[in-house]
Amino acid sequence: MGILEVKNVNKRFGGLQALGDVNLSIAENTVHAIIGPNGAGKSTLLNCLVGKLIPDTGSVLFDGISVLGRKPHEINQLGISRVFQTPEIFGDLSVLENVMIPCFAKRDGSFRMHAFESVAAEEEIVAKAEQMLKDVRMYEKRGLHAGSLSRGDKRRLEMAMCLVQGPKLLLLDEPTAGMARADTNNTIDLLKEIKASRDITMAIIEHDMHVVFSLADRITVLAQGTPLVEDTPANIKGNPKVREAYLGE
Ligand code: ADP
Ligand code: MG
Repeated sequence: MGILEVKNVNKRFGGLQALGDVNLSIAENTVHAIIGPNGAGKSTLLNCLVGKLIPDTGSVLFDGISVLGRKPHEINQLGISRVFQTPEIFGDLSVLENVMIPCFAKRDGSFRMHAFESVAAEEEIVAKAEQMLKDVRMYEKRGLHAGSLSRGDKRRLEMAMCLVQGPKLLLLDEPTAGMARADTNNTIDLLKEIKASRDITMAIIEHDMHVVFSLADRITVLAQGTPLVEDTPANIKGNPKVREAYLGE
C-alpha cells in the first residue's frame, strides 16, 4: 500500500466533472509526477488531498488515515505539506523568522502569532530553523527581509518553511511556473538534494517536461479529470496515447 491512496474520487463543479473516478497510489519515498493538459483536474486533485476541497465521493488515505473531512491544518499535522504556486512568505520578516513560524505552528497545533513574542527564549527552534536554512543553502541570507529576495530564493525559502515541519509527503503545484531556465534548473537540483537527504515522498504537478523527466520515478497522466495512464518516465515518453492526449499529436 502506498503512503497516499486515492480511491474512486469524484468531484463536480456544477455541471462540470472536474475529477472522475480518480485512483492513484503513491509509493513511499518516491517522486510521483501528475501531468496533463490545462483543466485536466490536477489542482483540483491536489486541493482534495490537502482539505481545501472535499470530493463528492471516494476516499483519500494518507499513511492509512482518512484525510477526508479534516481541516487543512489537521492534514498538515498528519505530515502533508504543500508548496504553493506563488510563494507564501512573510515579506516583512527576516528569512530566519519565516522558517521559525511553521515550527511554532507545528508545536502549538495552530498558527498563533503571539507565540512569536517569545522568540528569544526559543533557542531550539532557532537552531532548527538555522539548520534548515543551511540545508537549502540560504543560511547566509538569514538576516535579510524575505520580501527582498529574488524569485528563486523566495521559492527556496518557501521550501524550507515546508520542510522544517518534517513532512512525509510534500506536494508541489507547478514549482517552476514562470521561472527562467536557470532558476528552473536550480529548483530541480534543490528538489533532488532534498529527496536524497531525507525520507520524503513528493507529488509534483508540473507542466515543464524537463522538470518531470528529471525528477519523477512514476508519472500519472490526467486527462479530463481521469487518469489516462500511470508508468515510468521512459514508458510515458514513448506512449502514443499520452502523446495524443497530452502533446496534442
Ligand atoms: P488543472 O490544474 O489541471 O489545470 P483544475 O483542477 O484547476 O485543472 O481545473 C479542472 C476543471 O475544473 C477546469 O475545467 C476548471 O475550470 C474547473 N474548476 C476548477 N476549480 C473550480 C471551481 N472552484 N469552480 C468551478 N470550476 C472549477
Ligand atoms: Mg492547476
